[in-house]
Amino acid sequence: MELPYSEPYKIKMVEPIYPSTREERVKWITAAKFNLFNLKSNQVLIDLLTDSGTGAMSDRQWAAIMMGDESYAGASSYYNLKEAIKNIIGFDYFLPTHQGRAAENVLFSAMVKEGQVVPGNSHFDTTKGHIEFRKAHAIDCTIDEAFNTTLEHPFKGNVDLNKLEKVYKEYPKEKIPFVIITITCNSSGGQPVSIENMKAVSELSKKYGIKVIYDSARFAENAYFIKLREKGYENKTIKEIVKEMFSYADAMTMSSKKDGIVNIGGFIGMRDEELFKQASFYNIIFEGYITYGGMAGRDMNALAVGLDEATEFVYLQSRIEQIAYLGKKLKDAGVPLQQPFGGHAIFVDAKRFLPNLPKEHFLAQTLAVELYIEAGVRGVEIGAILADRDPDTRENRFPDLELLRLAIPRRVYTYKHMDVVAQGLINVFERRNEILSGYRIVKEAPLMRHFTVELEKI
Ligand SMILES: *Cc1c(COP(=O)(O)O)cnc(C)c1O
Repeated sequence: MELPYSEPYKIKMVEPIYPSTREERVKWITAAKFNLFNLKSNQVLIDLLTDSGTGAMSDRQWAAIMMGDESYAGASSYYNLKEAIKNIIGFDYFLPTHQGRAAENVLFSAMVKEGQVVPGNSHFDTTKGHIEFRKAHAIDCTIDEAFNTTLEHPFKGNVDLNKLEKVYKEYPKEKIPFVIITITCNSSGGQPVSIENMKAVSELSKKYGIKVIYDSARFAENAYFIKLREKGYENKTIKEIVKEMFSYADAMTMSSKKDGIVNIGGFIGMRDEELFKQASFYNIIFEGYITYGGMAGRDMNALAVGLDEATEFVYLQSRIEQIAYLGKKLKDAGVPLQQPFGGHAIFVDAKRFLPNLPKEHFLAQTLAVELYIEAGVRGVEIGAILADRDPDTRENRFPDLELLRLAIPRRVYTYKHMDVVAQGLINVFERRNEILSGYRIVKEAPLMRHFTVELEKI
C-alpha cells in the first residue's frame, strides 16, 4: 500500500493558541461590533484572516536573521537578496521596500500618470488603489470563466487576449504605461495564470510597445500549478518554471509576506537600468536608501532564504495539498466552494450557502461571524462590505461573488487544525436554514470601510 503523505518538516518551536467557549465568542464578537478585524488574536483559535506575513520561518531563515548586516549602505544582506533575486527570478536590478503596496507606490510613481489606463487580470485592491490614487484607471481583462465558481478551469487567472487587445487598440501607447498580471490572481480566488498565457500577453504587448509587469505575491504557488496542470512542464523543476515565467516580464512588484515566507517586506524587480534609476528616486523618498528601502538587513537575509525555500517542490506540495485537503472535506459535505481550489485559500460561495438571505444582509460577513461563533475560526469577507460604495452615487456595490475566504498561513497549522475548520463550517452548513437574518451597517469609514465597519444584527 502506498504510504500516506506527511509534511516535509518537523516542528522546533511552538506557540500556544487559546480555546474558548461559544458563550465567550458570542460576547467577544458582539463587543467587536461583528467585525472580525476587531477581535484580539487570543480570542481566535485558528486564524485564517490572511496568509500575508503570518507564515512560519524555517531554522535556516532564523539563522540568516542572526547574520543580518545592518549597515546603512551596501550591507551584505542586500547583496544576498540581490543574488537570490537574480538566481531565482532572473532580474538584474531590484529595490527593497517595506511591503508589496510600497513596491507599487514606488514603481507606479515612476510609471503611472493621470488619465492613463492599466489593463490586467482582476487587479488586487492595493494595486487598483495605487492606480486610482494617480487618477488613472484599472481595466479588468480576466477571462470570463474566472467568475463562475462552479466551472472547472485549470487557469482561471488567465488574461483574455481579446479583451487586452481591445484596450491596446482603443488607447494610444502613451496612455498605457504597462499591463499588470497578478500571479496567482488573488481577486479571482488564488487562481493561476498559465505560461502559455504569460507568453501570449508578452508577445501581444511587444507588438504594441507596452511593458509587462507581474504582481508576484504568490508566484511560487503559480509555478506549482503550472507544473501540475500545463502540458510540457510536468518534468521541469519549480525553479526552472519560475525563471521562464519571469522571462516574459519587464518588471515585478512583490509582497514578500506571501511567497517570500517572511513576516514583513517587499521589493521591485526590474530588467532595465533606466527604470531602476527612475524608481530609485522614489524609493529614496518613500522607503529608504536603495540598499535597504524599508527593510532591516536581517529581514533581507531571511527573505533571500525564504525565496529559495518557497520555490522548492516539496514545500509547495505540502502547502497546496493542505489547502486541497480542507477543500475536499468541505466539498464532500456539499459546502459550495470556488473551484478548482486556490493556491493560498479556500473560498466559500456565500450566495449558494445562504440562498434565502437577501444580499443587503451581507451574506459572506454573516457566514464569517457564524463560523467564528461555531468554531473560533476567523476567515474574512470578500463581498459587499469590501466592495464599498460607488464613489459617485454612494450606493452600496454588490459584487457578483460573495465569498468567505479561509486563507491558510504558510507552515503554521496542521491537518488536525484543518479538520476543526472543516467540521466547524460543516456544522454551520447543516444548520444553514436556521440562519434567518444577517447584519446591517451602523458605522463606516468613507473608504476601505471593511477594516473598521461596525455592524448590528438584523
Ligand atoms: C498582498 C498583495 C499585495 C500587497 O502587498 P502588501 O505586502 O500587503 O502591501 C499586492 N498584490 C497582491 C496580489 C497581494 O496578494
